[in-house]
Amino acid sequence: QKPVPSDIVISRSCVPKPIDHLAREVGLLSDEVELYGKTKAKVQLNIIKRLQSQPDGKYVVVTGITPTPLGEGKSTTTIGLVQALGAHMKLNVFACVRQPSQGPTFGIKGGAAGGGYSQVIPMEEFNLHLTGDIHAITAANNLVAAAIDARMFHEATQSDKALYNRLVPLSEGQRKFSPIQINRLKKLGIEKTDPSALTEEEITRFARLDIDPSSVTWQRVLDTNDRFLRKITIGQSPTEKGYTREAQFDITVASEIMAVLALTSSLEDMRQRLAKMVVATSRSGEPITTEDLGVSGALAVLMKDAIKPNLMQTLEGNPVFVHAGPFANIAHGNSSILADKIALKLVGPDGFVVTEAGFGADIGMEKFFNIKCRYSGLRPHVVVLVATVRALKMHGGGPTVTAGMPLPKEYVEENLELLEKGCNNMRKQIENAKHFGVPVVVAVNAFKTDTEAEQELVCTMAKAAGAFDAVRCSHWAEGGAGAVALGEAVQRASGAASNFKFLYDLELPIADKIRVIAQRIYGADDIELLPEAQHKVALYTKQGFGSLPICMAKTHLSLSHEAEKKGVPTGFILPIRDIRASVGAGFLYPLVGTMPTIPGLPTRPCFYDIDLDPETEQVNGLF
Ligand code: ADP
Repeated sequence: QKPVPSDIVISRSCVPKPIDHLAREVGLLSDEVELYGKTKAKVQLNIIKRLQSQPDGKYVVVTGITPTPLGEGKSTTTIGLVQALGAHMKLNVFACVRQPSQGPTFGIKGGAAGGGYSQVIPMEEFNLHLTGDIHAITAANNLVAAAIDARMFHEATQSDKALYNRLVPLSEGQRKFSPIQINRLKKLGIEKTDPSALTEEEITRFARLDIDPSSVTWQRVLDTNDRFLRKITIGQSPTEKGYTREAQFDITVASEIMAVLALTSSLEDMRQRLAKMVVATSRSGEPITTEDLGVSGALAVLMKDAIKPNLMQTLEGNPVFVHAGPFANIAHGNSSILADKIALKLVGPDGFVVTEAGFGADIGMEKFFNIKCRYSGLRPHVVVLVATVRALKMHGGGPTVTAGMPLPKEYVEENLELLEKGCNNMRKQIENAKHFGVPVVVAVNAFKTDTEAEQELVCTMAKAAGAFDAVRCSHWAEGGAGAVALGEAVQRASGAASNFKFLYDLELPIADKIRVIAQRIYGADDIELLPEAQHKVALYTKQGFGSLPICMAKTHLSLSHEAEKKGVPTGFILPIRDIRASVGAGFLYPLVGTMPTIPGLPTRPCFYDIDLDPETEQVNGLF
């Protein structure tokens, strides 16, 4: 076998089709496409309306077994499968993937465009600024943060009357409420449109949000792995008169606005979700929203282009939507509903849309079904579960695998015993997918260190565990040609009986919903709500958020809450430390342990290898 060159070398060796040609090929009209250079375009949302009578294509979600920290190839398989279905089996296809954060690109993990001969190209465009969606989210998120602190400052330093006069100023000799202020009046039950008609009591209620500074949950964000911003003190300039506050930065992809982008179904729906985001609680216990702050319209303006999915292509010229990339732990880790919906219309009833869910099946896939599919109304036909020999050996008791370190010998020599033991993790994740009533195809992502007997063993074990089919695939080394067997299995499975169901009813009490996920998906005996979580259950139930779906924030490196427990841990109680709410995005997220919300840089970050060739303008060193 000839060696596979680096990802950037492969990516660069392929000349992409002009993106306007690709857009025409997939049936987009020129009015529906906004070009961003030669290799990227945004597509307008009105396509959904134009194609509303067109039946949807088949919907395939790619997930994985519990991975090693290196990743087991979900993105690579998503792209490889689309190349097989499209370029080799001549079907209409679309891949829908997340936009990666720049944090990992310059930090430890590198890019996320797939790998080897299964990639989205040009990978440097994909991994860096793309069309600026993440920058738009950063801008919108930080406008909210600025609005919160400025408002608290103005309320603390002005009388009710002075505040009111500034909030509703005289303009051309007349005082008028803005539409957003009228919404706030309605929320307060004040049915008045004349600013001079408000009583003193109404003026106070209208002008004072009375935010409890200790309750602010909205953080500033940045798309950089900057660990020194994990805890900061703001307001230290004398101009802020001593109103300092401890705060933090999160990575941009952890912003609720990213989750809103991923879950929204239209511009109007996005405007409403952006207005519903709860940023703090008032001293009297009321949730304070972005609409209360008056900033929701401005957020929609900042996000008006980001809502349009980005069109790119695979190495073999198949269409890819790259859109949204919410954090897979504190958010739901799936690409956008809008991209999936548009793609399903474009491919038509015989075509396939392959979308990826972040992390392993216990996290990304569970959230795909219980959160994303609930909001989209879409029902998948097939689950593709990516498995690797190396991760299964780890679950069978193999030594720890660390990024950047050579693999221990268990992973580079045949070891059927370790592998067979580790297949219990795959069995559990197959069961997890089958809870939702959708057929599962296992894709054994081949590494050059695997033996044939090892790969065959995984296929046999997968079928014995109830998979519809299990196939070996070599798309990383061979491109789409290496995933044709997978494509054929997916095509067969898409015609099989599917009996989709959600795991829990939204009307169950919050704790019961968490318990269902913990027991049925993770295999826990029970859950334990720690005091802060109990307090939040009571608060959110009282505030009317109790029927939102649940987005568990748990490690992806184990089915349990302890990353070092591999295989299928049993006999554990899942501790719920705290629960937070993303009301605009539309979920509650219980925290199982502590979740870093902005990664740090290692001693030798990826950026050491990244440079620009000034002659050719080529980017070197990305992977
Ligand atoms: P995930 O999406 O599951 O995190 P990726 O598809 O991003 O995983 O793959 C993780 C890394 O492993 C990438 O650098 C990718 O190029 C590499 N990789 C994936 N499949 C293979 C394979 N079969 N052989 C060698 N490297 C692979």
